[in-house]
Amino acid sequence: ITLEAKTFPFKRFIVFTGWAETLSRAAEIAEELKLAVYVVGGPVRDFFLEKPVKDLDLVVEGEAEEYARALSRALSGEIKARSPFLTYKIVFPGGELDLVTARKEVYPRPAALPKVSPGSISEDLYRRDFTINAMAVGLSGPFKEKLLDPFGGLFDLESGLIRVLHMNSFVDDPTRIFRAARYAVRFEFDLAKETIGALGRAWTQDALNLLTSARIRGELLRVLSERAPERVILCLESLGVLQALGLPEPPAFLEKSLKIMNEKTSAKVLLKGLILSLTRAEAALSQKLGLSEKEALEFQGEWLKLQELLPNILAATKPSQRFRLLSGFSLPVLIATASVEKDFGERLKEFLALKEVKPHLTGEDLKVLGIPPGPQMRKILQNLLYARLDGKVSSREEELALVGRLLKKC
Ligand code: ATP
Repeated sequence: ITLEAKTFPFKRFIVFTGWAETLSRAAEIAEELKLAVYVVGGPVRDFFLEKPVKDLDLVVEGEAEEYARALSRALSGEIKARSPFLTYKIVFPGGELDLVTARKEVYPRPAALPKVSPGSISEDLYRRDFTINAMAVGLSGPFKEKLLDPFGGLFDLESGLIRVLHMNSFVDDPTRIFRAARYAVRFEFDLAKETIGALGRAWTQDALNLLTSARIRGELLRVLSERAPERVILCLESLGVLQALGLPEPPAFLEKSLKIMNEKTSAKVLLKGLILSLTRAEAALSQKLGLSEKEALEFQGEWLKLQELLPNILAATKPSQRFRLLSGFSLPVLIATASVEKDFGERLKEFLALKEVKPHLTGEDLKVLGIPPGPQMRKILQNLLYARLDGKVSSREEELALVGRLLKKC
C-alpha cells in the first residue's frame, strides 16, 4: 500500500472531537519523542459523519511504552491496562484513550485470533474491518495534520457504503459480519458489492461456525447495545447470519420483543430472552451460545410451563392471583412470552410493578406480636402481601387488623 497524504482540516477535527487539548498534548509529546502517532478509526469516521466522537484511539508507529508513560504523565493520568500486544489504556481526569502500537496481523486459521507483530501505520490500517474505519489522521511524523485514507474510506462514507478491505476479511474474522450489520443499521449504509462477495466466501467456508460461543455472545451483546438492536438482528437475518448459526426463521415479533423490555432490562437478560424467543430453547443453539445444557433445559421447561398457565394468567381477575402464577418464572422466559403473546405484555408490566410492593409489617413486627418464625408466620406474611396487592389493605393499621383476623381464624 502506498500512502498518500491528503489535506485535512486538522484544527477543526481536534476541536470537533471534544479532545482538542488532549490531542495537542499528545502531538507535542510525540514530536518530542520523535514518534509518528495517529488518531485512527472511529473518531475520524465520526468527524466526517458529524456524529459525536465516543472513544479516542491512537496508534503509535514504533515503541509505544515510553510514549504511553510520557502521555499519561502529561495528562495527570494513569496507565490502567496494558496487554501483551503493546496496547495501553490511559485514564486521565475527564476521559480515557486507547493507545496501540501499529501492528500487522496474520490469521493462522479462519476465525482464530490473529498473530500480532509490530508493523507500520499502513499495515495497521490494512488489518481493519472496513474502509470507513481504516482512515488515520497524523498527530506527528511524516503525515502530521494530514489524512491517510489508503482504501477510499472517505468516498465510501460519502456513498454510504460498508466495504471490506479484502475478500478474505470475513473468513479471517467472522465477527466482522456482526460489525457490518451494526454499522449498516447505525449509519443507514449499504453493503458494498465486495462486502457481499466476502460474505459469500465466508458462507462457503462456514466461517461463522468456527467462532467460539464466547465470541458470538460478545457480538450479540454489542448488537444489543446499539440504538436499534431489532433492526440489526433483522439485518443479520437478511445476511444469512441467523440461519448460519442454526436459528430458525426470525420471528416477526422480534422487533416488539426487544422494544418492550428495552427500558429496564440489562443487555444480558435481554439476550437470554432473545435467544429463547428465537429458538424456544433449542438445545443445539443454546450450546453454541454457551448456555449449558442444564440452563437450556431449565429454560425450555419454564417456557412450556408458562405456555400452559397462560390461559389462567390471562383470565385471573385479582392482581394477587396473577402475581402468584407468575412469581416462579425467570425474567427471560417472561420477556420471551411477552414477545409472542400480545396480551401478556401488560401482565408482565403489572407483574414487575407488583414485585416492588411490600407489606408494612415485617417478620420482626409479627415476632413482637408473639408469632414465632415458622410456617404460620410465613403464611400470614404472604396473606398480607396478597391483600396489599389486591388493595384490600393499605396502611399499617389495616394490616394489623388483618393479622388479628387471620390469627382468630387459625
Ligand atoms: P464503535 O462506535 O462501535 O465503538 P469503533 O469504530 O470505535 O466503533 P471499536 O469496536 O471500538 O469500534 O473498534 C475500534 C477500531 O478497531 C475500529 O474502528 C476498527 O477499525 C478496528 N476494529 C475493531 N474490531 C475489529 C475487527 N474485528 N476487525 C478489524 N478491525 C477491527
